[in-house]
Amino acid sequence: MKAHDGMYIGGAWRPARGQDTIAVVNPADEQVIAQVPAGTAEDVDDAVCAAREAFRGWAATPPAERAARIAALRDVLVARADEIAETVTAELGAPLQLSQTVHTGVPVLVAGSYAELAASYSFEEKLGNSTVLLEPVGVVGAITPWNYPLHQIVAKVAPALAAGCTVVLKPAEDTPLTAQLFAEAVDEAGLPAGVFNLVTGLGTVAGQALAAHDDVDLVSFTGSTAVGRQIGATAGGAVKRVALELGGKSANVILPSADLAKAVKLGIANVMSNSGQTCSAWTRMLVHKDQYDEAVALAKAAVAKYVPGERVGPLVSAKQQQRVRGYIEKGVAEGARMVAGGPEAPRETGYYVSPTVFADVTPEMTIAQEEIFGPVVSLLRYEDEDDALRIANGTVYGLAGAVWAGDEAEAVTFARRMDTGQVDINGGRFNPLAPFGGYKQSGVGRELGPHGLSEYLQTKSLQF
Ligand code: NAP
Ligand code: MG
Repeated sequence: MKAHDGMYIGGAWRPARGQDTIAVVNPADEQVIAQVPAGTAEDVDDAVCAAREAFRGWAATPPAERAARIAALRDVLVARADEIAETVTAELGAPLQLSQTVHTGVPVLVAGSYAELAASYSFEEKLGNSTVLLEPVGVVGAITPWNYPLHQIVAKVAPALAAGCTVVLKPAEDTPLTAQLFAEAVDEAGLPAGVFNLVTGLGTVAGQALAAHDDVDLVSFTGSTAVGRQIGATAGGAVKRVALELGGKSANVILPSADLAKAVKLGIANVMSNSGQTCSAWTRMLVHKDQYDEAVALAKAAVAKYVPGERVGPLVSAKQQQRVRGYIEKGVAEGARMVAGGPEAPRETGYYVSPTVFADVTPEMTIAQEEIFGPVVSLLRYEDEDDALRIANGTVYGLAGAVWAGDEAEAVTFARRMDTGQVDINGGRFNPLAPFGGYKQSGVGRELGPHGLSEYLQTKSLQF
């Protein structure tokens, strides 16, 4: 794989300030495929300076022109779709088809949505005798995870640019090549120098320096709760804006009137996609006691189609593989009944984990409470709707969820009572304009669509 040995700062690839590098590994065969520079606090400082210098000019650029540049960026992503998909497959391990459809297709949709929003959004409103100006917050520090390498970047950078902010990105150390490709696309799209800057590196070094930098106005982070907490505290201390997207433990609630076979099948597919490395995955399946045994049998049959190395890729790293296998062992130790999969690695090479289904899972078990981030589904039994709701709402998270019922109105009635930021009704489709983000400890702030754009704006009221 081709990799840059520098940072993209101020519209050019510049040598890194330090000598350290990060090895990029293909998780399917464990081979090192590239080296990228490990950024230091000095690289971060250079990048923030470049972003600050570019800020006034970009903020003053008419929204229609910003929209045109974002549209050009979308077009470059489309033109380079094959390369993007191959790169995501190489460094994340996702099956190529998933890389083409989801990992490349969704960012193209989201970039397109922000090209349109930048052009149509009202950056000024009238309220009584006031005119309220919606102005960009300033320099954004974006810190992204590896699970959807390009989507996580685009979901922050596109709205930031639409708002008139400038950006410094620190992508995950496991997936820096996709981030470098994105920087190339920004360059090709003709965005002014300094509007977008990339510093590859470790979270504990470059990420921390970015989150703590005095001249960053807003930190937007997606990743683990532990790191998110730390970033939130740092941002709070400096009185700067922060957006946190911290994962979930979403419930897939199958009401007795639902099409059980369909709900179970799509529920399994939802978790197995991307090897379970999806923050919004419906990892807890809630089934009425009278339908429970049938659901377990259906889940077992459905998961058999997910063969590691074919429909399911590996996990991103040996560390994640170990972590997920540890959770499977914990599930067994706490008394859950394993009906498919298990902790043994299904292949000799590659960081694969067997698609695993647990039955007889009770709400207080670790596997029903903590985010596993792997191909593991837990089936929980409920007595009645109130019991289902208690279980569904009974974690610290609240990112997503699903409700299945015979008719939509019944599902919606249940969904209204759920403490969560998104609910798919009877398998509803992904909407790139719908606000995405968490209730409770799933985070602070929203991404995507007009709500995602407003995160990057602040108001100035003029009274007449
Ligand atoms: P993570 O450490 O929180 O990584 C997310 C991003 O934050 C990465 O770019 C990371 O850099 C950076 N980072 C790490 N420590 C930092 C610090 N002290 N200051 C600033 N930035 C820092 O997550 P992970 O270790 O990759 O994954 C661990 C678990 O987090 C997963 O098992 C999963 O449960 C959860 N997770 C959730 C999401 C989500 O979409 N909500 C995504 C990924 C992971 P490095 O890449 O160098 O670590
Ligand atoms: Mg980490």
